[in-house]
Amino acid sequence: MTGIVVLGSTNMDLVAYVAKAPQRGETVTGREFRTVPGGKGANQAVAAARAGGEVAMIGAVGTDDFGGRLRATLEVSGVDTDLLRTAEGPSGTAHIVVDDEGGNAIVVIPGANATVDHLTPGDETLIATANALLLQLEIPLGGVIAGAEAARRHGVRTVLTPAPAQPLPPELLAATDLLVPNEHEAALLAGVAEPLAAAEALLRQVPEVVITLGGAGSLYAARGMEPLTVAAPRVRAVDTTAAGDTFVGALAVALVEGRPMPEAMIWASTAAALSVQRPGASSSMPYRPEIDAEAQ
Ligand code: ADP
Repeated sequence: MTGIVVLGSTNMDLVAYVAKAPQRGETVTGREFRTVPGGKGANQAVAAARAGGEVAMIGAVGTDDFGGRLRATLEVSGVDTDLLRTAEGPSGTAHIVVDDEGGNAIVVIPGANATVDHLTPGDETLIATANALLLQLEIPLGGVIAGAEAARRHGVRTVLTPAPAQPLPPELLAATDLLVPNEHEAALLAGVAEPLAAAEALLRQVPEVVITLGGAGSLYAARGMEPLTVAAPRVRAVDTTAAGDTFVGALAVALVEGRPMPEAMIWASTAAALSVQRPGASSSMPYRPEIDAEAQ
């Protein structure tokens, strides 16, 4: 396989659209409700597959009604689910409130994702054949570390999205090649808010960092070179859910194809900008012809 393996979460996103998100103790009437297949792992897998990558997903869905739909959604976008397990019990769910400004607030309940705390021999064999392993933090840290270390043993590039934000254990950082936090995650991990300063601090822990900056674009830093900023296309954002996952999935495809980082970032920004102009998580992600047409 010359492709991308995603080790991570699958969640059913339960999305409420409201004018303004409720404050603590407040009840508001929303406008619309949708169930949208998501989870950061599945989102990155769908983003990468739609962007033209050869993608396989390692993770777990539950035995509830959501499980079958989560698996089918991956397959429809072309993701190989042979190593996606079905675990007794509920699937993961994410409870998302999207406001009229396109901002979001999310509660994640892991469900089946909690069982992805180890690798099977088959998982490791698949990872060994990949060009890149995409990781996030919606499965147990033990599973993430096992994946990163397997990739390291087999010389496979690891791309870690440190979300939801939390301190990272040294063994995970040691096995990470490219860290892709958003601005908030970068600030938390680096202990400094300014993106350039955060990137510099993070380079003491990993060799390459891309910090995504929402509508302001993204910033690349690597040891021994000048940092580089890529602007995001100016668009009207209606729902930024999974913008970062779209960015990472497309970025991985471009990198696996051997494109240089600046070009990969511009292409990934084009994909992410397309996704924020439509509602939904994985359902809003663009297919390759659309990205290529827009990137010209
Ligand atoms: P996350 O979704 O993880 O919080 P960001 O908000 O930083 O990540 O968004 C990831 C990427 O998506 C950005 O680097 C940018 O390329 C794109 N993006 C996000 N919001 C917008 C926007 N309003 N306009 C254009 N592109 C956007």
